[in-house]
Amino acid sequence: MTLEALIKERIKKHGAISIADYMNVCLLHPEFGYYMRRDPFGVSGDFTTAPEISQIFGELLGLWLAAQWQKQGKPEAILVELGPGRGTLMADALRATKKIAGFHDAVSVHLIEASPVLQQKQWKNLAGKHPQISWHPSLESLPELPIFFLANEFFDALPIRQFVGSEERKIMLDENGNLAFTPPTTNNQQPTTESSPASQQIMRELAAHIAHHGGAGIVVDYGYTGGSQGDTLQALKEHHYHDVLQEPGEADITAHVDFDALASAAQLAGAASFGALSQGKFLLQIGASQRLMNLCASASEPQKQELMSGFERLIAHEQMGELFKVLAILPAGSAKPEGF
Ligand code: SAH
Repeated sequence: MTLEALIKERIKKHGAISIADYMNVCLLHPEFGYYMRRDPFGVSGDFTTAPEISQIFGELLGLWLAAQWQKQGKPEAILVELGPGRGTLMADALRATKKIAGFHDAVSVHLIEASPVLQQKQWKNLAGKHPQISWHPSLESLPELPIFFLANEFFDALPIRQFVGSEERKIMLDENGNLAFTPPTTNNQQPTTESSPASQQIMRELAAHIAHHGGAGIVVDYGYTGGSQGDTLQALKEHHYHDVLQEPGEADITAHVDFDALASAAQLAGAASFGALSQGKFLLQIGASQRLMNLCASASEPQKQELMSGFERLIAHEQMGELFKVLAILPAGSAKPEGF
């Protein structure tokens, strides 16, 4: 049995499925889902993320969160990451915040991760880095304390729906029995729009938590502001674009994140949002160049090369600097935080 056969079976029985259902099954099917079976990151995987490129990323994000924690009076709190991948971002954030007096003692660490394979990987990578780390498949079971959260390349993995005009674009079987997108029934030239109810829901929960208990959060992802960008659904396999409908479960499927939609969801739930701002600008404004110089000062020549090329990838406009954006969530009425 393959995931493709399962999906076709389901369409034969029940009719066309939404893109959201398709993404959900491709990424998270308990047996065949993309994230459920593998570690997709790095050169030998399908894609590489900012924390895997440079330690500076996780260090600065960790310090940013700790600064918000200090400003809010150093409360007992939870430090949360959504979709931690290999655990690299949290490891870098914990290492960088070790020197922040009282921070590690005040927080317990909570990782929201759907994949048992990646939970295992995170457990190994984070062993000994904090005395209290626990895993949750979703946000539901988090303690009612101020929340300081990070989410890097998490929201792009959440299911989206697409509409052509008012008609939902779905996935069906064509006359040869292959997976195909439903053609629009009217012949108009309406643009494609996207929405991600799952992203909205999760952002509402995070923002409501901040509104009730305090805290701060930061979301980093590839995405856009200023309204619809048309069809942004994409699949990636071995660092190349892949047909979304080919080999379901074997390629990563994502969509660009609509940052304005996330910001309004946060505001509607009673929190304040700042950004979205480009990743390059944000990192420079919270001290990435200084951190690079400090690291280079005690590095060997090959290490220096690696540090500098990683920095360049994160910040350069034509690399990740502009496409990736940063959104901060804080309690309503908060002053503009560092970096924005
Ligand atoms: N933040 C990491 C990994 C990004 S990949 C990094 O920057 O390297 C997306 C991560 O989100 C993976 O860990 C994946 O298993 C997890 N994930 C995807 N959908 C999820 C969901 N609905 N609930 C919980 N975790 C999810």
